[in-house]
Amino acid sequence: MFSLYKKYLEFIDRTLEKEFESQKPFIKCHKACSLCCESGDYPLSRLEMEYLMAGLPELEVSVQKKIRSEIRGLLDVKSMSDGHIMHRCPFLSEDKTCFLYERRGLVCRTHGLASFENSAEGVYIKLPRCADEGLNYSEVFDGKEVQICKFKDFGVKSPVEHSLSLNFYERNLPPEFVDLEFGEIRPMLGWFVQKQ
Ligand code: SF4
Repeated sequence: MFSLYKKYLEFIDRTLEKEFESQKPFIKCHKACSLCCESGDYPLSRLEMEYLMAGLPELEVSVQKKIRSEIRGLLDVKSMSDGHIMHRCPFLSEDKTCFLYERRGLVCRTHGLASFENSAEGVYIKLPRCADEGLNYSEVFDGKEVQICKFKDFGVKSPVEHSLSLNFYERNLPPEFVDLEFGEIRPMLGWFVQKQ
């Protein structure tokens, strides 16, 4: 069912490996650093969510229960908010690794990189949140602004020169992936229905 999507993930991993390599002097990502998974809304397409959730039955039953319980708790919090919350990812384990690492979506695979993104106000540089914590890109971030002129001091041309969003990759996929249908994109919790 997911055979084409799995090939796409291999392609994405190869592509992102080059992007991480180009930004290497600024990258402090390492196993069990979970800052990117501690607070976010984790936008995922329908296809990404279906592939992620297809991995749930492969986990130990106790882990499945824990994840489902965390999701229910988050949905309760969401129901008492304006509908949009930033939250710890329910797939993050106690030892700060991802229970479904091989199945994670693009937003997770690009965690840690800085990129040029578009907004209604124009192009801006999107930094990973950990720049604030003295981690990725902290050498070129003064707490308010990215100092783009300093990139060359580290042998880096610029942040990733294009968006790291799913929309960008969808528009720029090689022809062998044109049949992939990602579907609607929602924040992770938007894919779960709260039981009354
Ligand atoms: S799915 Fe995994 S990698 Fe993605 S935010 Fe959750 S814990 Fe982190």
